[in-house]
Amino acid sequence: MLGIRLQKFIAHAGVASRRTAEEMIKQGRVAVNNTVVQDMGFTVSNDDFVTVDGKPVKIEEEKVYIMLHKPVGYVSTSQDQFGRPTVVDLVKDAGKRLYPVGRLDYDTSGLILLTNDGDFTYRLTHPKHEINKVYEAVISGFPEKNEIKSFESGLKIENYQTSPAEFVVLEKQGINTLVRITIHEGKNRQVRKMCEAIGHKVLTLKRIQIGPIALDNLPVGKWRHLSLRELKMLY
Ligand code: URA
Repeated sequence: MLGIRLQKFIAHAGVASRRTAEEMIKQGRVAVNNTVVQDMGFTVSNDDFVTVDGKPVKIEEEKVYIMLHKPVGYVSTSQDQFGRPTVVDLVKDAGKRLYPVGRLDYDTSGLILLTNDGDFTYRLTHPKHEINKVYEAVISGFPEKNEIKSFESGLKIENYQTSPAEFVVLEKQGINTLVRITIHEGKNRQVRKMCEAIGHKVLTLKRIQIGPIALDNLPVGKWRHLSLRELKMLY
């Protein structure tokens, strides 16, 4: 949200009319970031901590939830120290400042959610909720039965014991194999490391589903709002 005049901010937040808000400011009842402000021209944004009579005042922003088909070659943070393009660049036209829910590697494509709802992000990314994430990967070679078994029962990656996961062979592609992998954890580069642990390098990786939400036919680089039905399934 861009800066707006303090009296307008208080009125938008539903505390009082703009005229009454001006009176409150004059009376020294309004503080911004813990300092009383009596200047009518003062501008604030939702990042400022505004209080009236000591009580916090906030403008509730409309919550937006979208899915993006992330291309390879984008980072899934809001900013990148190396100046690489970010997923946030791809959703600028959504008209709100949005943040990615969880992460996908720079070299991974597929489904990523973005929102301005911090509670939603917390619930979806907290390990206790154990939301399934489904990936399609092309891996080198052809996995043996015992390798698949150890993948599925959980294995050690860098001193971390992974939980049971699902591993389905979809098709042979020359000397490589297309597989579908389902995990419900989100350790850094977990799918790649788990595949390497059973002796197969991940050549391409794409996330196709998060819980009940599937990527479907959304073109690479495009985004859309989640439907009410999808949101309800996630809540
Ligand atoms: N696992 C990975 O290795 N990379 C991702 O981007 C997601 C899961």
